[in-house]
Amino acid sequence: MAQQAISTQLTALQLEKVAATVALLRQALNDYGTVTYSNSLGAESMVLTDLICTQVPQIDIFSIDTGRLPEETYTLLERVERRYGRRLRLVHPQAEALQAYTSEHGINGFYNGLAERQSCCHIRKIEPFRRAIAGFGAWVTGVRREQSATRATAQTMEFDTANGLHKISPILDWTHDDVWAYIRSHSLPYNALHDKGYPSIGCEPCTRAVEPGADSRSGRWWWENTDSRECGLHPRIRIVTQSKAPA
Ligand code: SF4
Repeated sequence: MAQQAISTQLTALQLEKVAATVALLRQALNDYGTVTYSNSLGAESMVLTDLICTQVPQIDIFSIDTGRLPEETYTLLERVERRYGRRLRLVHPQAEALQAYTSEHGINGFYNGLAERQSCCHIRKIEPFRRAIAGFGAWVTGVRREQSATRATAQTMEFDTANGLHKISPILDWTHDDVWAYIRSHSLPYNALHDKGYPSIGCEPCTRAVEPGADSRSGRWWWENTDSRECGLHPRIRIVTQSKAPA
């Protein structure tokens, strides 16, 4: 695919961040041979999808279809594939594990407690994620430092000991404004829920809108203690044992 010129509507600092991000993606490909991007279809993902598809298309892209995503996310997925003329590799949970989970806990068993929620995330996200990255030298994530306390101490390139390969976080130091400046300046598609108060979007039953200015992750698993609000893909978390069902 032909490379596109990077927009000049961004500030000089933002253009520097774009260039640094592309350089890091190329370096990862050079250093680790095979690289895959775990595309969550959030706002940050639109930036990374654009940079990968237009600048470093050798990088594989996959998304996990948990089976509980909002309709708006599926619509976005289709728009992204159409824009770039490229299929995103979709990875699904294993049917037998899902059937065992719903038989034991019910279709919405994740509301019953932290263990049930993490078990659901394991079946619908973690296990498919591990299958998706198997065999690659490195994986790319769109996390940003300012998103949560648990992400503030991350490194742009680090070894992911839990999964046994390198982890690249190329937009770790981008701000919320940087992300949206890039999306606007390139007229990128994005999830319609972002315009309805959802800064961070995951599965439909575990995500809700937040007040303007609230922590961007506060709408995810909102009924839990703040420290446990990660799905397990980014292992710098402290596990807490208390949770209560949503109001
Ligand atoms: S976010 Fe909710 S529905 Fe999705 S995998 Fe985790 S617990 Fe299950």
